[in-house]
Amino acid sequence: MAQEPPPLPEVVQRLIDPEVTGLRVVTDSSATYGDRVRVTVQALNGIGATATDGAGTAALSLVGADGPSDLDSVQIDEGLGHLEIVAPEAGVYHIEATLGGFHAGSDPLEVSVEPGPLSLYWGDVHSHIRERPAQALISDADLLMGPPTVGDALAWARDVAAIHFATVSDHDLNLTDDEWAQQIEVHRRLNESGRFVTFPGYEWGNSQDMSRNFGHRHIIYRRNRARGIEQVPIFRSNEYATHTAEGLFRALREAMPTADVLSFPHHTARGGGNTWMNWDYSDAELERCCEVFSIWGSSEKPGEPYPIKYLPSGGYFKTGEARGHHLQDGLARGWRFGFTGGSESHDGRPSRPLVHGWHVIAETDFLAPPGITGVWADSLTRDGIFDALRARRCYATTGARIIVRFSLGDTPMGGEIAAEEISGPAELQAEIIGTAALSAIELVKNNREIATVSSADSRASVTLSDAEPARPGDYYYLRITQADGEMAWASPVFIT
Ligand SMILES: [Zn+2]
Ligand SMILES: [Zn+2]
Repeated sequence: MAQEPPPLPEVVQRLIDPEVTGLRVVTDSSATYGDRVRVTVQALNGIGATATDGAGTAALSLVGADGPSDLDSVQIDEGLGHLEIVAPEAGVYHIEATLGGFHAGSDPLEVSVEPGPLSLYWGDVHSHIRERPAQALISDADLLMGPPTVGDALAWARDVAAIHFATVSDHDLNLTDDEWAQQIEVHRRLNESGRFVTFPGYEWGNSQDMSRNFGHRHIIYRRNRARGIEQVPIFRSNEYATHTAEGLFRALREAMPTADVLSFPHHTARGGGNTWMNWDYSDAELERCCEVFSIWGSSEKPGEPYPIKYLPSGGYFKTGEARGHHLQDGLARGWRFGFTGGSESHDGRPSRPLVHGWHVIAETDFLAPPGITGVWADSLTRDGIFDALRARRCYATTGARIIVRFSLGDTPMGGEIAAEEISGPAELQAEIIGTAALSAIELVKNNREIATVSSADSRASVTLSDAEPARPGDYYYLRITQADGEMAWASPVFIT
């Protein structure tokens, strides 16, 4: 007699539930009049996964200052539909979609008259597929949890999450040499200039020998090759030469020019398992940015609203802030970090993980929403995005595609300016197109809030001044909090 297969775990049943309970609309954040702008419409089930019963014609409209106008409709099949529209005249718009009884609007699309030097792109270079190693038996339930391979995860990031760039940065110790070679090849194959940019990368730092607290960092490469060899290296945290941060940096510098590799410290204050960051060790050339936000919470500073959490081996998540190891502590030590947001997805869904282990992320009180990185780049190419990250022309959000500009005169976020070039008090410009009322726009100097404004509107264009003269070593960054709890952190301007 044939045996009944075991029932699927509840979380898997919920992930594959085909019934539509809502919609999600995503579009590009910046475009020039006449450009092609991508629109993605996703039918959501009760847990936020694609609801495959979603089918039919979704009506779309473009909502600007003059009210709504109709767009072409989009065909939804198995819960997903894509459309390209032509960017309308200059202004700020939202795209709204209706399917069945469901309705949703996108985050803002800002259209300019003339092409500007930089456009805003969104991505996530810190994500994982379901736990490796691949040779372990994978059950049907595992396969149904999320995109099961690196290629599936990247395609999901492009087509469903609708982000512009991504890396699947699996853990060093979980990748065999063959899997690493495949991982590079899959990233190469899915990289497509102008559409979707990928960088090969991995995460360093799951070694058990963490007595000196070298923490975790994800590493991405500009290309698939180093020094002419068609492969970039993986340096593992359990190998003698590269089990320390200094050893890792030495190996990276020997392998390639520093301009071709970026290492991002992450969850820097996560207590438990000694996974916090020891700020004695960083590298001004290799570590240009630090991940400030992910599902583990905020690494910026201690306390609310998103204190960083950890998962001890017993399976209980608790507040686990390691004081002295936050991003602010690293900045105070003189490291000049730009800010990124990462998902830390472990379910193959870069930038929009739904589950972690068997937990539904949104239903826990111990995991935060996934972070995302906004980058002001001159092109949607590997060089364009990589150079922008190296220049720290980037910022982190808690997921909302908030448009943020931040500068001191001509020096943009992430830039450096000499103190003697600033005449009088430093005046920092912040221009924000948010997704809800802006309850706090805070200018932070050397980790202290020195000016705060708010806006009942989702948009603000403000100048924030420092009463004290700027001195070498000072840094100014921007923290934005919306009424709906979404946040953004713009990379500092550094005074030299
Ligand atoms: Zn990690
Ligand atoms: Zn990770």
